[in-house]
Amino acid sequence: MDKVHDLVIVGSGPAGLSAAIYAQRARLDAVVLEKEYISGGQVVNTSEVDNYPGLPGMSGYELGMKLRAHADALEARFEMAEVKDIIIEETQNIVRTDQGDYTARAVIIATGARHRKLRVPGERELAGMGVSYCATCDGAFFKGRTVAVIGGGDVAVGDALFLARGCEKVYVIHRRDELRAARSMQEKLLALSNVEIIWDTVVEEICGEDQVEALRLKNQKTGDIRNLPIDGVFVAVGMDPNTDMVPASVDRDEKGYLVADENCVTNVKGIFAAGDVRTKTLRQIVTAAADGANAVESVQQYL
Ligand code: NAP
Repeated sequence: MDKVHDLVIVGSGPAGLSAAIYAQRARLDAVVLEKEYISGGQVVNTSEVDNYPGLPGMSGYELGMKLRAHADALEARFEMAEVKDIIIEETQNIVRTDQGDYTARAVIIATGARHRKLRVPGERELAGMGVSYCATCDGAFFKGRTVAVIGGGDVAVGDALFLARGCEKVYVIHRRDELRAARSMQEKLLALSNVEIIWDTVVEEICGEDQVEALRLKNQKTGDIRNLPIDGVFVAVGMDPNTDMVPASVDRDEKGYLVADENCVTNVKGIFAAGDVRTKTLRQIVTAAADGANAVESVQQYL
């Protein structure tokens, strides 16, 4: 069994990396557990981040690497391990992973969120065969082709902007008559001649034999059904928090996010929640990074 650490940080997105930096500066004995072979979380799959103060127009990958390099420069300890369960005890917590157990007096959960599924016929069957959840990862396969992006938030519009650079035609299919994304991104999108927004419309089915061939669409206002031929579909309909490994005793809101305010303190002693996984109004890189700092401050007060 590993020794008892001051702190285990679960996740290495902006919240986890920021927590690692603050924990090193506070001279805590901390270890960061990361599931993926690359740090940065969702950021590394973002084509361009244009709202992180001081670093305009930076690629998400580059920003992720910079955050990690900062933690490395302070000699933060990282281990690759997937957390399966957290056992909460009176004065310490046992973090169960596929690589063994870690014991820590405090745990910061910074596990972020994952892409929500559309849950329509064809989505699961054609995943990886034209159905994608990551435009920056898979967009290059659709150079010169016709694709659809589903959703109206920042991710959907960002994906559409990115795809429009290489694809012949990009449809954005949104269930309402107004986008949710930041106005500046909407303006960029509306200015592109190879982007068409299909309003008030939902996907009923993703059709194709071995490859995506078309979408069956339903107009919410008229009830009209039509088939839209496409080569690929990028689903960007929001996120669900990654909380499978978090004990049921930690309070969630109705959407499953861990209930904690700006100080990142949950209802369970010694368990802290930082970044996209916690209840908050604005899920951005800058707010996740702020959480990492606040969470470590709360951990220090707890210890
Ligand atoms: P989001 O803001 O929750 O947007 C999800 C979009 O998908 C909404 O337009 C929603 O429609 C639509 N939607 C949800 N369920 C649907 C369904 N079953 N069928 C069809 N459409 C559906 O999520 P996101 O775009 O993934 O962004 C997640 C968070 O990250 C947000 O807080 C966002 O601001 C942040 N983010 C920020 C940036 C940036 O600042 N550069 C970049 C990326 C992400 P309605 O509009 O009708 O609800």
